Amino acid sequence: MVTLINTLERPAGNDARPRHPEKAHRPDSPVLRKPDWIRVRAPGSPVWAETRDIVRENKLVTVCEEASCPNVGECWSKKHASFMILGDTCTRACAFCNVKTGIPGAVDPEEPERVANAVAKMGLNHVVVTSVDRDDLADGGAGHFAAVIRAIRDGSPDTTIEVLTPDFLRKDGALEIVAEARPDVFNHNLETVPSLYLTVRPGARYFHSIRLLQHAKELDPQIFTKSGMMVGLGESRNEVLQVMDDLRAADVDFLTIGQYLQPTRKHHPVEEFVTPEAFRSYETIAYAKGFHLVSASPLTRSSHHAGEDFARLKAARAARH
Ligand code: SF4
Repeated sequence: MVTLINTLERPAGNDARPRHPEKAHRPDSPVLRKPDWIRVRAPGSPVWAETRDIVRENKLVTVCEEASCPNVGECWSKKHASFMILGDTCTRACAFCNVKTGIPGAVDPEEPERVANAVAKMGLNHVVVTSVDRDDLADGGAGHFAAVIRAIRDGSPDTTIEVLTPDFLRKDGALEIVAEARPDVFNHNLETVPSLYLTVRPGARYFHSIRLLQHAKELDPQIFTKSGMMVGLGESRNEVLQVMDDLRAADVDFLTIGQYLQPTRKHHPVEEFVTPEAFRSYETIAYAKGFHLVSASPLTRSSHHAGEDFARLKAARAARH
């Protein structure tokens, strides 16, 4: 049995709104007992505390906490955190996601500098920067992504930068703004198979997301592209294989596949705990389909081991040329 420790320290009072008002009236889905193969390291080591302090001092938001990631004990103990920019409130309401939903506040122009300070202080070789969806902004937050990339480059020129962006649906020109800032890795998660989009990711469009990844590579053929999905949401094996083919058709380099874990009783239920053997099979098939790198395991998350994986990704591409 695994206990996920919620490290969010939310003040009572003003911030006591429900995190997911749109889910309040959904029927409860019982949270299933996790199988033995889903084991995580409990947070609490001295380095974990140091990482937490740097995040707090710089008033940063991390997806590690906001998404209740099961790997926070391991990652923060290695000083690896994924920064979530553009606030802590998302304009979408995906059925799987634990990030707070609602009307976001104004964009903080000092955030790029604070992220850059934290990256420098943590001495990161590789950093992952993601964001909430900001459908309320004309450019979907693309300009802010670019500002964060530039600030990190200025402060830590040797740090490689991975962006995990929203889909920028109906935000013409947004992808180009991000691509122009030259991140090393462009990551956009498909999250699930197309047949589940309307229930799991209703605000998104599957083929738009595929096209976004393809266009990122067209804009910068040197960039590494990456995408991830969760399994256990009710998809079939053949549907997962079809997603692999669609991603390869879009020339995506790196695929991550992890087990969906249900954050609360109001979120989409876990339909299945996919076995480690089935993950290994997905990994084998994905390599056979031509991905440079594949990470498929119950606790794989798109930013898990991102630094080590980036080095492997570069080596894999170099070996093919
Ligand atoms: S896997 Fe990613 S989101 Fe989860 S704790 Fe590690 S860095 Fe944070």
